[in-house]
Amino acid sequence: MAHELNVEVGERRYPIILANSAVEIVRGQVAELLQSGRKVAVVTDACVQKAQQDAFELMFRQQPILAVEAGEAAKSLATFGAVLDFLAANRIDRGGALFAVGGGVVGDLAGFAAAAWLRGIDLFQVPTTLLAMVDSSVGGKTGINIAAGKNLVGAFHQPRAVFIGTAVLQTLPSREFAAGMAEIIKYGLLGDIKLFERLEHEPLTVRSDDLALVIRRCCELKAEIVAADERETASEGGRALLNLGHTFGHAIEQVAGYGSYLHGEAVAIGLCAAARLSQSLGYLDDQAVSRIEHVIARHSLPTRLRSTLGLQELFSAMSRDKKVRAGVPRFVVLNSLGQAKTQDGIPLAAAERAFRAIGAS
Ligand code: NAD
Repeated sequence: MAHELNVEVGERRYPIILANSAVEIVRGQVAELLQSGRKVAVVTDACVQKAQQDAFELMFRQQPILAVEAGEAAKSLATFGAVLDFLAANRIDRGGALFAVGGGVVGDLAGFAAAAWLRGIDLFQVPTTLLAMVDSSVGGKTGINIAAGKNLVGAFHQPRAVFIGTAVLQTLPSREFAAGMAEIIKYGLLGDIKLFERLEHEPLTVRSDDLALVIRRCCELKAEIVAADERETASEGGRALLNLGHTFGHAIEQVAGYGSYLHGEAVAIGLCAAARLSQSLGYLDDQAVSRIEHVIARHSLPTRLRSTLGLQELFSAMSRDKKVRAGVPRFVVLNSLGQAKTQDGIPLAAAERAFRAIGAS
């Protein structure tokens, strides 16, 4: 049975449709577009295309498909150009619709192309990783990387609809599944203690009966936060809360060298650092910190750096983060398990203690 959830952003409203398989739903949407004389194009990556060959045949028979190389390297100016050339070659006009079928990389890249092509065409997100289902496909942020940094070029472009079929996760490598779990744990920590306790009770796996329910709850939390603060302009709280663990995580990813940690793995360590920071500010006790570390470890994620990284480098990476204003990072801290807030003016010594606790030196 399919569940529907609506995201409201300003004047725009779009559905997130969740089902065991999204194939029939996507097929129906494609047929409807074609019947009304509109063109359809698809962007995916080579791994997803290979893993989901039969589904592609059913969903998009005879429609043009571009499969970019798998992995973060595809979020480049060169591949962005290739997507635009593909749209041009297939004469996608203003009434055209682009389907992004893949993980966050495909969603961000194709989403940005949909935002830019003819100044904006319709985008449909069909996420195939756990991370994309609970995070990147919802909320409208799209973009690519340039040499100066990750996600520095992009646009807000809300999709027309998000189609989530959890069955595709069966072909997702387990390390990628675990990386998506870091974001799910984050949602529990920042806004839903019951979700956190559910994860504490038993690890969520691709075979869990309540997998779709958990994904739905995360989409709901993200949709609520995005609806209240689409462009992250709230003076406190708001969309910035979604950065829980990310201020530390981005610095870890950058200093370790992109690719050494998956984004979700760096976020998992970042959540542990955020927990330590909240502890040293007097918000969390030892037991709460241990509970967080325990849930992270039980979902096959790291709680500490695999090998140490320099504090200096981590701090300087943090000050280059695009979320930092006037050189001072704004941290997201936990008031309690299930409740987060943004806090400015955190003493450097407290952040340093948090970094040391996760193995930096
Ligand atoms: P990804 O898109 O690189 O996918 C991970 C790997 O899994 C790839 O090799 C892919 O080919 C493979 N894969 C995907 N689905 C599969 C399936 N069903 N079966 C088999 N293999 C499959 O990585 P990701 O973790 O989904 O996304 C990371 C990206 O998302 C980053 O670029 C990050 O910046 C971005 N992101 C964006 C937002 C946003 O709000 N826009 C939020 C979070 C992350």
